[in-house]
Amino acid sequence: TPLLLIDDLHFAYPDGRVALRGVHLRIARGEKVALVGPNGAGKSTLLLHLNGVLRGNGRIEVAGLPVSERTLSQVRARVGLVFQNPDDQLFSPTVFEDVAFGPLHMGLAARDVQARVERALALVGMSTYRERHPYHLSMGEKKRIAIATVLAMEPEILAFDEPSAGLDPRARRGLIRLLRDLPLTMLVSTHDMAMVQELCDRMIIMDEGRIVADGTAATMLDDE
Ligand code: ADP
Ligand code: ADP
Repeated sequence: TPLLLIDDLHFAYPDGRVALRGVHLRIARGEKVALVGPNGAGKSTLLLHLNGVLRGNGRIEVAGLPVSERTLSQVRARVGLVFQNPDDQLFSPTVFEDVAFGPLHMGLAARDVQARVERALALVGMSTYRERHPYHLSMGEKKRIAIATVLAMEPEILAFDEPSAGLDPRARRGLIRLLRDLPLTMLVSTHDMAMVQELCDRMIIMDEGRIVADGTAATMLDDE
């Protein structure tokens, strides 16, 4: 079974704007998949369905678990969503508390929470930042902390909305290296084709609420 399965997903916003018009997608464990397409194609809307922030019509399963009202907390432990703007994800007075928030709310014991925070901060190279106030960090540092908050949940899939947006070239390179080295399944919405080339094995193109192309990233980039 695929790690992520989406069948015939449709979604319209409350104002009637149709954002997804029948999305079918299967992602196998370990794949790093780029999600590209023009603004308004439905990429963000699709990502927001992966952990049940939005609920459209259709079937979504994560590691065989159907996404529904009843399974939301389990789904959110399996899918880590990293927003474009880290300020949407960081709200605690210290980095430690931000990264501890998810595992604490999973009901883990304090020492397990501690261990997860340390592991997550080490993975993103931010171990020395635990007592810092997230607000005062650079964009690249905030991005890494936002990723750590999600890694601390030990998810099976990471979903990113425009991860390299707003980063200077050095922070961007560091982020690509970090993501490339993480042995996790990823779905990455981006306009950054160099990032696709360096990070992703597969590329999906969305347009007007549908997937219009799906193939090997290297081949599709060569064809452009
Ligand atoms: P993308 O991420 O590919 O730019 P979005 O998922 O943000 O695309 O948008 C898909 C469509 O849904 C667009 O037509 C967009 O204007 C619309 N849309 C996005 N968010 C909202 C919202 N909160 N309310 C109404 N329409 C929205
Ligand atoms: P992105 O492509 O990065 O998702 P968008 O420009 O599509 O950026 O959306 C930026 C924000 O505006 C999102 O929070 C989205 O939900 C909201 N938004 C986009 N289109 C609409 C719309 N037609 N009506 C209301 N909110 C929208």
